[in-house]
Amino acid sequence: MSKSRGYAAAAVKAPLAPFSFERREPREHDVSIGIKFCGVCHSDIHQARDEWGGSIFPMVPGHEIAGIVTAVGAKVTKFKLGDRAGVGCFVDSCRACAQCRDGIEQYCSGTVFTYNSRDQEGTPTMGGYSDKIVVDENYVLRLPENLPLDATAPLLCAGITLYSPLMHWHAGPGSKVAIVGLGGLGHMGVKLAHALGAEVTVLSHSMKKREDGLRLGADYFHTTSDAATIAKLRGSFDLILNTVSAPMDWNALLSLLRVDGSMVVVGIPEGQIPIGVMALAMGRRSIAGSAIGGIGETQEMLDFCGAHSVTSDIEVIPIQKINEAYERVIRSDVRYRFVIDIASLGAE
Ligand code: NAP
Ligand code: ZN
Ligand code: ZN
Repeated sequence: MSKSRGYAAAAVKAPLAPFSFERREPREHDVSIGIKFCGVCHSDIHQARDEWGGSIFPMVPGHEIAGIVTAVGAKVTKFKLGDRAGVGCFVDSCRACAQCRDGIEQYCSGTVFTYNSRDQEGTPTMGGYSDKIVVDENYVLRLPENLPLDATAPLLCAGITLYSPLMHWHAGPGSKVAIVGLGGLGHMGVKLAHALGAEVTVLSHSMKKREDGLRLGADYFHTTSDAATIAKLRGSFDLILNTVSAPMDWNALLSLLRVDGSMVVVGIPEGQIPIGVMALAMGRRSIAGSAIGGIGETQEMLDFCGAHSVTSDIEVIPIQKINEAYERVIRSDVRYRFVIDIASLGAE
């Protein structure tokens, strides 16, 4: 075992504070990664505050991890010392079920998530708000050499969570895509849908981010708070990707889909969502959900981002500012992802 330092929530809703714990020594197929940067996802906040239930404490959150390989097990073939390496939302899965065989390991019933989960031995996993992590090489991603590590970290969750449904629902030239919510996930959705050649519209809860939305690659920017605009947009979109977890008018949003259009929900609210069947039936519309992406697809997304120079718009913070950052994320006051500079742990 080796000592690792990080920041943890000791109990539900407790502010995050310095925390020391043990990481396993690299096994034959393990890669040890010195973490340089870790993105701050809204899911970290949901889980640290136990908004989805079943949270495990103490919890070291963080699943947008970018770093450098510092050690490899004897049988590792994919990575060597000094390589750039990334870890996303999960670090293992059963490797035998239909989903694992199909490369959609995120839907395996035995997925081991990067934190707030238990590994095969039952030990709670600890995430990327820490100085190092040890992960089986089959669950580690290669990071493009041409992209800065800090702005690449958010691709590991925010990037893949939007890339996967864009690909699955065939967004591209000729398709009209709306992204609801211009936050960490949403801004990656705009950049990726634009890079894929789709016509992109942002639907935001205010007009405050309009300039940014257009700069990030949106063709149009509207607010969901304006009833006249919503009425005008009825029947417009092939695909709506909804990243919001706050309460909203779901039926009004569904009415914006064309016949046979789909709304894919990636934001995960605390409670149930109110949906009337009328908006679905009168237009043969679909509503679906989607969770992150498999390892193969995450690598494909990273390579796509390398080729198209797509990264996240970030605000780098020292880890000591994490609790303040959480409050700002909740207020939608971040442009567009906080990324922790893990070197700041050295100042403790
Ligand atoms: P975020 O950065 O906080 O973005 C959420 C956005 O929601 C805000 O930027 C804001 O955009 C919009 N919003 C609408 N109404 C709001 C209101 N009343 N108050 C505050 N914001 C409001 O969060 P995120 O990290 O992108 O995550 C979004 C959701 O996706 C979370 O529930 C998270 O847990 C979930 N998630 C799901 C997956 C998955 O695999 N499915 C993966 C990662 C995260 P506007 O200002 O433009 O309205
Ligand atoms: Zn996330
Ligand atoms: Zn499986």
